[in-house]
Amino acid sequence: MYVILFGAPGAGKGTQAAILAEKTGLVHITTGELFREAIRQETELGKQAKPYYDRGQLVPDQLTIAMLLERLSQGDCARGCLLDGFPRTLEQATALDEALAQEGKAIDKVGYIQVPQDELLRRLSGRWNCRQCGSVYHERFQPPRQAGRCDQCGDELYQREDDKPETARRRLEVYSRQTAPLIDYYRAKGKLVEVDGDKSVEEVAENLLAVVEDP
Ligand SMILES: [Zn+2]
Repeated sequence: MYVILFGAPGAGKGTQAAILAEKTGLVHITTGELFREAIRQETELGKQAKPYYDRGQLVPDQLTIAMLLERLSQGDCARGCLLDGFPRTLEQATALDEALAQEGKAIDKVGYIQVPQDELLRRLSGRWNCRQCGSVYHERFQPPRQAGRCDQCGDELYQREDDKPETARRRLEVYSRQTAPLIDYYRAKGKLVEVDGDKSVEEVAENLLAVVEDP
């Protein structure tokens, strides 16, 4: 069983992937871990990927897919895997499908954690930091007692560039521009299942589990 999980930044994809992997016994594969592990083990593909990875450049698709196939052939992936963060583009998705087909494999399900744009913005841009003592707050999840003031030391709170609404909005735009064609691609293949991500972590996890376990 090969499952891909999609979700915008702030949709809780990483958290859900970890829960789902634990509940189903599927191996959770992120590209970051895939690269780091192959490089650490000094596999042939790891050696090829290392220069790109070290320079912070994109590892070429064919190389990433080769590493993925190698990973899937390892014993712990016998029951299947959960792909998190790959594919990111339509080109990667089609190349992955072709490579899997050559080994008589295929993606079985694609889960898409859907969260409304304004909720994603609230989650992504609600973080405030204290310069003085390093305390971190979130407008929704952990608000300070007095808005804009640190509970610990009383200093003024500030937002890092990454946590500002404009930055969050840009990240979400980039994500939807890249991902929309992928969503359409898997929907057309009848593999896409959308899950409402605007619910508690437990509810989303249950619904995703139902998706995976649905024959
Ligand atoms: Zn403080």
